Amino acid sequence: MSAQFPEREAPRARDLAALDERLTHCRACPRLVAWREQIGREGRKAYADWDYWARPVPGFGPADAAMLVVGLAPAAHGGNRTGRMFTGDRSGDVLFTALHAIGLASQPLPTGPDDGMRLRGVRLTAPVHCAPPANKPTPWERDTCRTWLVRELTLLRPTVRSLVVLGAFGWQAVFPALAAAGWSVPRPRPVFGHGARVTLTASDGGQDLQVFGCYHVSQRNTFTGLLTPAMLREVLAAAARAAGLPEPGRL
Ligand code: SF4
Repeated sequence: MSAQFPEREAPRARDLAALDERLTHCRACPRLVAWREQIGREGRKAYADWDYWARPVPGFGPADAAMLVVGLAPAAHGGNRTGRMFTGDRSGDVLFTALHAIGLASQPLPTGPDDGMRLRGVRLTAPVHCAPPANKPTPWERDTCRTWLVRELTLLRPTVRSLVVLGAFGWQAVFPALAAAGWSVPRPRPVFGHGARVTLTASDGGQDLQVFGCYHVSQRNTFTGLLTPAMLREVLAAAARAAGLPEPGRL
C-alpha cells in the first residue's frame, strides 16, 4: 500500500462512517505502521488481556456534530489499544471528564469501545491517526494524514460551527486542512495560545467557523497545572456556546 492511499480513498468517502472505515485500512506512513503494530504485539503488563487495535484510530462522535475537538495523535496504549480516540489513557480521561461536566459526554471516564459512551453534538479527531513514537509525528506524516482530516472537515461542514484545537501541533496542522476544506484562513496564520479564538469565514459563503486554542490535555500539561480542569472546561464551554449547543442536560 502506498502513500497515495489517503489521497485516493478519502475523497471517495461519501459520509463519515465510510471515511472512518476506509481510514482504518491506511498504511501510508511506514514508520507509524511499524510502531503501532510493534506496540500492539508487545502491549503492556497492565493491559495483558487486551487485544490491541494497532490500526489507524478514526474520529469519534456524531456525523452531524456542531463542534469538533482536534488533538495530536492516538496514544500508544490509549487509542492504539482501544481503537477509540482519547480512550484508554489519562489524557483522554481529562478530556472526557470535562466534556461530561458540561453535558457533552454521557460518562466522565471512558474505558473502551464497549463502555456505552455517547457524545452530544461534539466529535473528537486528530490530524494524525496512528500512534507515533514519543508522540511526535514527522512533518511528512502530518502532511500525509491531512487528506483524512480535510475530508472529515468537508463532510462536517454543513453542521460544524466551532473547533477546539488541543496544543500547538494540532494548531499548525489544522489550518491548512481548514483552508482545503473551504474556510478562509488569514495570513499570517493565527498564533496558537490557550484561549486564542479566531473566526474563519467560509470561502463559498457558507457558515463561519469559530476556532479555539487550548493547551493539550497531555499529562505534562495537566500534572504541572499548566492546564487545569477549570481552564479546559472554560474553553470547551465557550466552543459549545459558539456552536449553539444547548446548555448541559442529561444524555
Ligand atoms: Fe495513514 Fe494517517 Fe496512519 Fe499515516 S498516520 S498511516 S496517513 S492513518
